[in-house]
Amino acid sequence: LRRLVIILGDQLNLASAAFDGFDPEHDQVWMAELPEESTQVWSHKARITYFLSAMRHFAETLEARAIPLRYLRLGEHPYPGFDAALLAQIASTRPEQLIVVQPGDYRTLKTLRQIADQAGVPFEVRPDRHFLIDLDDFGTWMAGRKAPRLEHFYRAMRKQTGLLMDGKDPVGGSWNFDQQNRKPFGRAGPGMIPEPLGFAADEITRAVINDVGHHFSDHPGSTAHFDWPVTPEQAAAALEDFVRHRLPAFGPFQDALWTGEPFLYHSRLAAAMNLKLISPRVVLDATVAAGARGDAPLASVEGFVRQILGWREYVRGLYWTRMPDYLDWNHLDAQAALPAFYWTGDTDMHCLAQTIRQTLDYGYAHHIQRLMVTGLFALLLGVEPRQVHAWYLAVYVDAVEWVELPNVLGMSQFADGGLMASKPYVASGKYIQRMSNYCASCPFDPADASGEMACPFTALYWDFLMRHEERFRNHPRAGMQWRHLDRLQDEQRSRIRSRAEAIRRHL
Ligand code: FAD
Ligand code: SF4
Repeated sequence: LRRLVIILGDQLNLASAAFDGFDPEHDQVWMAELPEESTQVWSHKARITYFLSAMRHFAETLEARAIPLRYLRLGEHPYPGFDAALLAQIASTRPEQLIVVQPGDYRTLKTLRQIADQAGVPFEVRPDRHFLIDLDDFGTWMAGRKAPRLEHFYRAMRKQTGLLMDGKDPVGGSWNFDQQNRKPFGRAGPGMIPEPLGFAADEITRAVINDVGHHFSDHPGSTAHFDWPVTPEQAAAALEDFVRHRLPAFGPFQDALWTGEPFLYHSRLAAAMNLKLISPRVVLDATVAAGARGDAPLASVEGFVRQILGWREYVRGLYWTRMPDYLDWNHLDAQAALPAFYWTGDTDMHCLAQTIRQTLDYGYAHHIQRLMVTGLFALLLGVEPRQVHAWYLAVYVDAVEWVELPNVLGMSQFADGGLMASKPYVASGKYIQRMSNYCASCPFDPADASGEMACPFTALYWDFLMRHEERFRNHPRAGMQWRHLDRLQDEQRSRIRSRAEAIRRHL
């Protein structure tokens, strides 16, 4: 065999560099469903199902094109992980070279490199063309920047791609329209939200759901609602559905939350993009075209473009420039354990119960639920960042480490000491009250920080400010927020501390 081309579960893209120069006469593709990939992080059943179903669909596509493929199916081979499986394949086919496209996490890259070394086979890592900036160019952009902020990166990407640009200027005369975006729904609520297009499980997906039930029955979450796009055709249809029905209201309500509404105006495209079923450029072009036709307001289009052209590319660059150290960062020295209810949703705190139950049902929560409900609570409580990371990597269908880790450690837990976010994203229960209707069905009072029914977010928020007073009081961006502590009398401070202590003990 000349080349053995390894295709990982998040690289399901025929146009990828893995296939450059592929010769079916002499080369072979290798794909494997490996139990350890689902158990090293205690994956949600829907996350495992998504990956395996998309992989099996991709394998069908390769077979239809007569591309030689060795596919190891769960339960039909004896190998727990990459080492044994790949070494056996190398021993039986004796390839002259191993090829892989840049994996989505550092651990896999390291493992593959070690296997190639051990087997004495040359190993080539090819760049991932799915992304709009390659890692070398990101490194150049990062070089010498103490505070590599999203805003600078995003503007550079707008200029580089020409997306939403009018010559040298941003379309509409502004780089962002935050003033028009990020509204709550108000008392009347969201009204009728167009139901997102879902995809009934076909024979392949049903077989996967069966296998997952058999092999991973004790894993968290459910597959009962599984209707995600698992092929490029379905991903394209999901994009069209989003652009037509939900993009126009995406901007104004991207930060809003509502009981019983898991998806609101969000696109549900992250997993399809992360598994490479659809390219970010296609998603961006469709969005920008809708704006140009006048089918969606500029504020919504820009808000959405920023997420993909800005955040998504930016976190990937940060991940690869900071790994492997990134995993160990714990700037705030947080040591608490992740509360057990994160795995069950079994808590009286309505916002957390809603977000976690929805996560277990669908493998999905939208950005503000992840950042300002589950993420915020872990930050205020002082949960050890690695435990928070393990949870997020396990429970979302779109979770791949390059995007999950910077969002969790950097954006949500401030564990990187401000590399990504200029200050910790901390707020009291009043923020959740303003952006949602959660508090109306909750036994706790978001305005109270120290009473018996004080909202745990609010008590822990003030406690957080006190615990980190020295660190942030004179901080250029966060100082203002910390100076609110001046309003508290000593006696109030001690009542809040006791309430926070009681919450910790209870958990
Ligand atoms: P939409 O709200 O419709 O947004 C459109 C797209 O923009 C998303 O599909 C995604 O590709 C991109 N995007 C939006 N925000 C971000 C961001 N902060 N970073 C990178 N891309 C972004 N996203 C993942 O893809 N995988 C993860 O494992 C993941 N973990 C997260 C953990 C935390 C603590 C936080 C705060 C955010 C995380 N995100 C993650 C980012 C974001 O929350 C999800 O991409 C989004 O909720 C997915 O839903 P959607 O496709 O409906 O997104
Ligand atoms: Fe969440 Fe506090 Fe509101 Fe209850 S009162 S829903 S715990 S923010």
